[in-house]
Amino acid sequence: MKNKLSEEFKNRFDAEPLFYASAGRINLIGEHTDYNGGFVFPGAIDKVIMAAIAPNDTDKVRMYSIDIDDYAEFGLNEADAPEASWARYIFGVCREILKRGGVVKGFNAVFAGNVPLGAGLSSSAALESCFAFALNDLFNDNQIDKFELAKIGQSTEHNYCGVNCGIMDQFASVMGQKGKLMRLDCRSMEFEYFPFNPEGYELVLIDSRVKHELADSPYNKRRQSCERVAKRLGIETLRDATMEMLDSIRTDITAEDYFRAKFVIEEKSRVLAVCDALNAGDYETVGKKMYETHHGLSYDYEVSCEELDFLNDIAKECGVSGSRIMGGGFGGCTINLVKKDLRDSFIKTAKAKFNEKYGHEPSVYPVVISDGAHKEE
Ligand code: ADP
Ligand code: MG
Repeated sequence: MKNKLSEEFKNRFDAEPLFYASAGRINLIGEHTDYNGGFVFPGAIDKVIMAAIAPNDTDKVRMYSIDIDDYAEFGLNEADAPEASWARYIFGVCREILKRGGVVKGFNAVFAGNVPLGAGLSSSAALESCFAFALNDLFNDNQIDKFELAKIGQSTEHNYCGVNCGIMDQFASVMGQKGKLMRLDCRSMEFEYFPFNPEGYELVLIDSRVKHELADSPYNKRRQSCERVAKRLGIETLRDATMEMLDSIRTDITAEDYFRAKFVIEEKSRVLAVCDALNAGDYETVGKKMYETHHGLSYDYEVSCEELDFLNDIAKECGVSGSRIMGGGFGGCTINLVKKDLRDSFIKTAKAKFNEKYGHEPSVYPVVISDGAHKEE
């Protein structure tokens, strides 16, 4: 990728660039927990956005996206927002740095990536984090704290891309380290690294390539259920709830609210169990917890769909150690922890059976936990 970028950059701008990269991410466990003040458990992966960049001594940004084959040029004032949606991610990062009192001057850039777009691996966070990291290095002497770089990406989504996302994706893209996952506490924003070196296992994402658009905004409804139960318990978020507390109000709340809250409370215990299992190198327990999460998302939180349950069943039949929906639900990927010697037969079976039933093959992405945003030497 570096050679391709280098060639394109030299042809367009006739100068020597510096190279930066930032990764997409997975979340091993901890789903629908962020808005409940709970834990998520992401890591950066070996699928990245890479950029070749050099300052150009003007007040303009000039950039070319190899993958989309599109060029954009824009100034750095609020009124200069580019039209192309891909360019707004970078314009937003520039603006958010400037708003925080940081420095951004004109630069030329060429970028490309191998994070699949819109597959749930957060290519947008990889893009924001790549440029936030690069502009911090080029113009700010790396004085902007890394966590702040993640927030710059998040604010970019909020203020320039119309996506009201949490912090997890950008956090993982920026802070990720090779062979490590991170438990992020979405209430205190404290985080801790845990070893993830599953010798003999691999992580494989299977993208169903379906997305069910549901009319009644199921995401908001889930949030409202959680908020209602927390309020009834007299606590701020379900982070502080226990099953005993929930059972004590069972007759006062709807069955639906009960099961939504049950999932969130149990998911917290599962994340903590996975932390212990990772410290002990016990990947079979990690996998078991992933299956439990899938079951909870499917039956209690009700955010699965036929295709994802089907992929989960195939994983079970193939003897895959762990499998679950990754992301909000109603489509997208499953994340699978699979023994290396089972990997090929699992992928083959999943593709064939899914195709037979739904008329198209799922996309398959094996991933390795890798470094997040960095400068390429
Ligand atoms: P994801 O789940 O992958 O983050 P999003 O819809 O949030 O999906 O972000 C995808 C958008 O990010 C694309 O539509 C595009 O604007 C931008 N993007 C991501 N990767 C690239 C790339 N390699 N080249 C150009 N734009 C990209
Ligand atoms: Mg995104």
